[in-house]
Amino acid sequence: MGSSSIGRDWSAAEFDATPRHERWRECGVEILYEIVDQPRLPPQIRVIVRDWLSANNIILRGRDTNVLIDTGYVSRASETLSLLRKPKHLGSEPLNWLVNTHCHSDHMGGNAAIQRAYACRTSVPEGEAELIRAWDTRGLWLDYAGQHAERFDFDDVVVSGRTYRWGDLEWLAIAAPGHDPGALMFYCAEERALITGDALWENGFGIVLPDVPEELEEARRTLDAIAALDVRVVIPGHGPPFAGVAGALERSFARVDALRGNPERIARNVLKVMLMFSLLDRESIPLATLPDYLASVPIYREYNERYFKQTAAQLADWLVGELEKSRAARRAGGLLLASNS
Ligand SMILES: [Zn+2]
Repeated sequence: MGSSSIGRDWSAAEFDATPRHERWRECGVEILYEIVDQPRLPPQIRVIVRDWLSANNIILRGRDTNVLIDTGYVSRASETLSLLRKPKHLGSEPLNWLVNTHCHSDHMGGNAAIQRAYACRTSVPEGEAELIRAWDTRGLWLDYAGQHAERFDFDDVVVSGRTYRWGDLEWLAIAAPGHDPGALMFYCAEERALITGDALWENGFGIVLPDVPEELEEARRTLDAIAALDVRVVIPGHGPPFAGVAGALERSFARVDALRGNPERIARNVLKVMLMFSLLDRESIPLATLPDYLASVPIYREYNERYFKQTAAQLADWLVGELEKSRAARRAGGLLLASNS
């Protein structure tokens, strides 16, 4: 994934003039994580900033109990384990308890591997329990979206409105529906820290579905709930922790307004995000195979039938063009490549 290499040389002026999330995308995550000003976190909160394929791993180290929130994507599980074992993260300490903000593949894909390595208690949000128990691959956006995860079992559920003691701090679980109806956020009043998963990033929030219009309104209500909290630092599911919650909320409210009443735009956005996700997983996709791939994965096929009514080849052309335009991907030698590969 090239997370330790810098993609370009920055002049100081250019660096300052580029929004932080752009720099974060273009640079190696780990290196930039150390360059930019990070809001202060107490020593028991340790954040492993990952990428778009793997959600961040948040370690809450306590005197008796070490907790991990979210485990990354299944194909990166060994990388996740070696990152956890770095002394600045978990080192040789035991991991006692694994918790998920929600059960999309980039947040729970590594659960099974972590359980094998640590034999830890595992808790999922109450609203995700049935999907996991039944391993509902459509509801979990797995084969439905061309994504993968290793099936896992859990011990119990985390419930909205209840408080949990993780990393010697009190964390309140707060319902965060929208991007995922069962998602939770975790708020620590003492540190004024909020773990948001995909409910709020520094620039935006996780996709909502075009055929479920209430999801966008729920996402907006979740943003309202965040605005009502006293937050000093947001620890998002993707991107480094950040301090400017007001600005992030403003950008996300504007995004809700831009998407409202426009299911075609939401559908386009979903397909771009899903294809980019699969591209990050595979690192390259032969362009000649893309139409067949899009015709075989239900979310592309169904959205195309419902919203776009194009041939698979036309849809492929359009999606590739969109990813190129946003400079997320490029073509070379008959392949579609992620820009950072
Ligand atoms: Zn998600």
